[in-house]
Amino acid sequence: MALIVQKFGGTSVGTVERIEQVAEKVKKFREGGDDIVVVVSAMSGETNRLIDLAKQISEQPVPRELDVMVSTGEQVTIALLAMALIKRGVPAVSYTGNQVRILTDSAHNKARILQIDDQKIRADLKAGRVVVVAGFQGVDEHGNITTLGRGGSDTTGVALAAALKAEECQIYTDVDGVYTTDPRVVPQAQRLDKITFEEMLEMASLGSKVLQIRSVEFAGKYNVPLRVLHSFQEGPGTLITLDEEESMEQPIISGIAFNRDEAKLTIRGVPDIPGVAFKILGPISAANIEVDMIVQNVAHDNTTDFTFTVHRNDYQNALRVLEQTAREIGAREVIGDTKIAKVSIVGVGMRSHAGVASRMFEALAKETINIQMISTSEIKVSVVIEEKYLELAVRALHTAFELDAPTRQGE
Ligand code: ADP
Ligand code: ASP
Ligand code: MG
Repeated sequence: MALIVQKFGGTSVGTVERIEQVAEKVKKFREGGDDIVVVVSAMSGETNRLIDLAKQISEQPVPRELDVMVSTGEQVTIALLAMALIKRGVPAVSYTGNQVRILTDSAHNKARILQIDDQKIRADLKAGRVVVVAGFQGVDEHGNITTLGRGGSDTTGVALAAALKAEECQIYTDVDGVYTTDPRVVPQAQRLDKITFEEMLEMASLGSKVLQIRSVEFAGKYNVPLRVLHSFQEGPGTLITLDEEESMEQPIISGIAFNRDEAKLTIRGVPDIPGVAFKILGPISAANIEVDMIVQNVAHDNTTDFTFTVHRNDYQNALRVLEQTAREIGAREVIGDTKIAKVSIVGVGMRSHAGVASRMFEALAKETINIQMISTSEIKVSVVIEEKYLELAVRALHTAFELDAPTRQGE
């Protein structure tokens, strides 16, 4: 008899009918003899609806109060699922994050889990109950409700699996696994049987929202076996593993990630003297704005251009700070662009293959897509391009790296 944590995402609990279907599924597992802890998200669209409500009061809602409100989405689904299980004769009990005591830090809207009290859950499991826990939420040491950031129910699932030393954490969603890229953008994308934690971490941090990045960090750190599966279709899903396969057949690139979440800022005609990068980025970091990619051009006429990207939500703020800096250091001008996208290729196979970046640039050149910025690490290459070419770029790269599913006869 194993202990399994099963997490069901927003679309999988998006209607009462779906919640009944989830209950049927959980019932089958329970009847198979396993101990089950279920984590659920809010019904799809509910978290957005709640955030919109808050924004009708204030463009920047007080983070503590926002958490009190958005956490209610999950409170509804845990109760509905527990009712649906009990109706089927399956003993079940629901808990909010506070009731379990999922202790987090106090960083409202993006809290980190510090500790999980497993006593109550263990006692319920021992008494034969299915335990249904609200995803996405916790409580800080002062008793304030906190939330873990968008997509945070994945992290609740993995953290519970780690705390309970579960056999596996199963993430049930509306796709049947992790694909070579978002199957909504590239219909020829293929499901991966396995992907390493390291690759999944890159994919998640570069924009593949199929798993929240912190859930992958947690799974890697505590070695939690993690699997992504379809909620209502049978299949093996995708296993996120520690080991890099040694097969010769291993593809160079495992996946392509992309995001439209960033904006680009350039400060032109900056005096080319030591300390200038610090003068530009110091005030940005003091304003609590995270910088992603950075490019400084070769100096010309004793001045240089300096470009960096930030999250789009921070764009206006960063622009204001940078304009102030430009006045102080005597730079010529500041320009900004929010219509950019970042496309990244990810794969541990890159370590042992040369020429991966140039193959990427060639594929983009063939589509006459201009590359504005480049950054690389050991297992990824990212480029910033004009947003309107995003889908074309992802498709071209998917084909260039031979990731397209073979088309069947007659298709
Ligand atoms: P849930 O509500 O179950 O948490 P999400 O919407 O957060 O579901 O994540 C599932 C979605 O992630 C899919 O519908 C898919 O469009 C998207 N996605 C993005 N990149 C990938 C990828 N590489 N593989 C699978 N799905 C992906
Ligand atoms: N309901 C939250 C969100 O929409 C958490 C989650 O679904 O994982 O972001
Ligand atoms: Mg999600």
